[in-house]
Amino acid sequence: MTPSDLELARRVALRPLADVAAGMGLGPDDLDPYGRDVAKVRLPALARLRERPPGKYVVVTAITPTPLGEGKTATAVGLVQGLSRRGRRAVVALRQPSLGPTFGIKGGAAGAGHSQVLPMERLNLHLTGDFHAVTAAHNLLAAVVDNHLYQGNPLGLDPARVAWRRVMDVNDRALRNVVLGLGDPQDGVPRQGGFDITAASEVMVLLSLATSLRDLRARLGRLVVGYTRDDQPVTAEHLGAAGAMAALLRDALAPNLLQTSEGTPALVHTGPFGNIATGSSSVLACQLGLHGADYLVTEAGFGADLGAERFFNVKCRVSGLTPDAAVVVATVRALKVHSGHYRITPGRPLPPALLEENPADVEAGLGNLSRQIGVVRGFGVPVVVAVNAFPGDHPSEHEVIVRAAREAGARVAVSHAVARGGEGALELAQAVEEAAHEPGDFRFTYDLSDPLLAKLGAVATRVYGADGLDVSKAALRDLRRFEALGYGGLPVVIAKTHLSLSADPRQRGVPHGWRLPVREVRLAAGAGYVYAISGEMRTMPGLPAHPAAERVDLGEMGEIVGLF
Ligand code: ADP
Ligand code: MG
Repeated sequence: MTPSDLELARRVALRPLADVAAGMGLGPDDLDPYGRDVAKVRLPALARLRERPPGKYVVVTAITPTPLGEGKTATAVGLVQGLSRRGRRAVVALRQPSLGPTFGIKGGAAGAGHSQVLPMERLNLHLTGDFHAVTAAHNLLAAVVDNHLYQGNPLGLDPARVAWRRVMDVNDRALRNVVLGLGDPQDGVPRQGGFDITAASEVMVLLSLATSLRDLRARLGRLVVGYTRDDQPVTAEHLGAAGAMAALLRDALAPNLLQTSEGTPALVHTGPFGNIATGSSSVLACQLGLHGADYLVTEAGFGADLGAERFFNVKCRVSGLTPDAAVVVATVRALKVHSGHYRITPGRPLPPALLEENPADVEAGLGNLSRQIGVVRGFGVPVVVAVNAFPGDHPSEHEVIVRAAREAGARVAVSHAVARGGEGALELAQAVEEAAHEPGDFRFTYDLSDPLLAKLGAVATRVYGADGLDVSKAALRDLRRFEALGYGGLPVVIAKTHLSLSADPRQRGVPHGWRLPVREVRLAAGAGYVYAISGEMRTMPGLPAHPAAERVDLGEMGEIVGLF
């Protein structure tokens, strides 16, 4: 039997973390150790590293994925291992896994096989407590809001328009909608509320986008929890909660240092959701890695239309960093699904026909690859296609993808990083080095001075390939309201399905002749964007019939088993 990711992870002899850190120019005084194999990098280290010129900035994105994911994380980890074997100093920056998927459908891990972030148990279970800090800060604000209502509501907050929910880092559908304040009059003001998963907290996104402690504090102050009866926003600053939230989050702003299966530095920091948020690790981790290495490789959630678009238009705008290259991960299985001939259901085995040699079906799905290459090129960023090789793939199927990528004018390499580690990603590493040294021409999809509606329209038409927007009356009214309140200069995020370029998750390949519905728009003033809801968005997932939690246990020696 092939060993599990956890078994492979445990076989690796970890390098002393001080040696890993030294490779980034970090000394012992720059680290706050959390046990032996995990440390936080203290923020003053970044100020010092900034004196060194930055390395190349590489983002890993993908074609439109199946519900199983196509291997962005695994490819990103394999790529830094490959770069390292080629003598380059390379750092990977990734999101911290949420306990939701760890105990839900997906199981834990960052990466796969011989390209993982270690130690895996620490990574998946609490790490350094950053998610708990986000949970505490978020819920502190929620408690202050309800206390404000109870204590006579001097700000005149409209209880019906409180938009600040509570969060928790467990998938629990029973908490999506709850009634608060039941009991006696001294038990609070009754109103409807609910819980989201911590990864969906605006505090999480804000933490990922903050560029300093001072910026963190300012963003917390700008968080809007609701509106007064005469339509004025009420912020965490008005409620006097922002300072205490910042105090709770102080240590969480420092990135966490771990290592890959081959001992290269891995920064794991923050974990904002991919659908309603930016879906990428922190700005500070990217800056730290860029100034501490020749290459900083990071991942942007979902396909290029969603993750890379936000990475470029939102995260790069905040950080001021310019990406030098993008890797678009493609798999045989996803391209076959884009042919329209197969369907994958999470939690069920793959359809056997999907595993048979069938280059024609791969070919039939290639439109999606070309379209997602086009999405990245629209930002003026050089593209490398990485074919993430799975054990059941056939060389004839890889050849079809390699040929199509070349015809589209992109660099391309087959990555065997999961099966072979960095040695399996040497060709990919070389292609990425070449692409990152090409002259880039980075540009955004829209200007911040454009009206909010025009920004949404630009993303829908130029990135997704929609014919236009269908905006509800309520959404139009709110966009005008946000502009009147002074939020018109923010960038936008569109929450749509990641399983299609269109807004309909059943549409494979490259959908044509469709319009993007915008049902509702919301303000994330602390994180710093306006987001549009296009389709059903779950911010508190549920558990499946047999959650991964059923497999996780403690072994005889106190070791953790069953985490994949
Ligand atoms: P993404 O980051 O794009 O969501 P991941 O890297 O998390 O993708 O991989 C998705 C899933 O596929 C994980 O369960 C991972 O273990 C598995 N996987 C990824 N690449 C391979 C591969 N080459 N061979 C086998 N399994 C893989
Ligand atoms: Mg991933």
